Amino acid sequence: MIPDGIVGGPVGFRGTLAGVTAQVLVVGSANADLVVAADRRPAGGETVLGGDTEVLPGGKGANTAVAAARLGAEVALLGAVGDDAHGSLLLDSLSTSGVRTDLVRVVRRPTGLAFITVTPDGENSILVSPGANSALRPEDVPAAVSEAKVLVASLEIPLDTVEHAITTAAKAGTRTILNLSPVVTLPESTLAAVDVLLVNQHEAAWLLGGSKDGAESVVRTSELPALLELGPRSAVVTAGAQGAVCVEDGRVSEVPSPHVEAVDTTGAGDAFAGALAFALAQDSSLPDAVERAVRVAAFSVTRRGAQPSYPTPAELTLPN
Ligand code: ADP
Repeated sequence: MIPDGIVGGPVGFRGTLAGVTAQVLVVGSANADLVVAADRRPAGGETVLGGDTEVLPGGKGANTAVAAARLGAEVALLGAVGDDAHGSLLLDSLSTSGVRTDLVRVVRRPTGLAFITVTPDGENSILVSPGANSALRPEDVPAAVSEAKVLVASLEIPLDTVEHAITTAAKAGTRTILNLSPVVTLPESTLAAVDVLLVNQHEAAWLLGGSKDGAESVVRTSELPALLELGPRSAVVTAGAQGAVCVEDGRVSEVPSPHVEAVDTTGAGDAFAGALAFALAQDSSLPDAVERAVRVAAFSVTRRGAQPSYPTPAELTLPN
């Protein structure tokens, strides 16, 4: 992680904070994904030639916001990009998808980058340079957070900013979803302010005492209620092609995924988060919201890329 000390300082917000209200406020990262296909990934000290680089809009926060907006939600992203071409790419992609960018800070620091190597076995290795994302501070969380119906936060931005956003929203009565990805340890006070803890199986396994390397990456459904002992009121665990499970009020609901031909699973978890947030903003019950999110995320894996793969309601014609 680049130390905060080298931040050049804020250039400003793109718009005015006054009047920024949204059904769904997303707090999270915006990165340009630099994707290169290669026969194999280089070992230490080695040079490997790859294909042409694709530059795609990404980052967990931006992806989540775009997924919700494509479905018709009124969404704003609280995030930060650099004053550079990658920042413009991200702002364009957000605006084109209908995401409000008034709360995206433009800072004198490079836009966050994800260097992604894809090998023929379909496996990705990713190096993230957070850049501008590291400049998002707790004081950037606007008072308007209280006017959102749902706040959804993910990591890849400073932890204290996530904590402040969640606790401020909870105090204001805004429903909070924490997509704890990449997974980290959080203070109990933050987890107690979370309405819906959203994690994948690996993250759930780690939270339940397993290791981070995926060695104990499968959790049994009967173990999931233990996630609530960490503090959140409910929890949702995604399970790839199998769908997802949610736990609320002592009830566990398993939601199977429709069967699809998976082409590219990049950003599926973020599609899930965006769809879940929108459904909860429309007052769906948690199991109904999870069902909608499973369908949206399943659709997203049938197309390449993260943001370009997210469906509009008209496209959601998957079999049950
Ligand atoms: P992450 O992408 O965060 O690691 P998952 O792999 O659990 O999380 O995927 C998130 C969601 O995306 C799943 O709950 C599911 O709805 C959908 N999904 C992922 N992979 C597939 C797949 N192969 N087929 C159908 N749906 C999938």
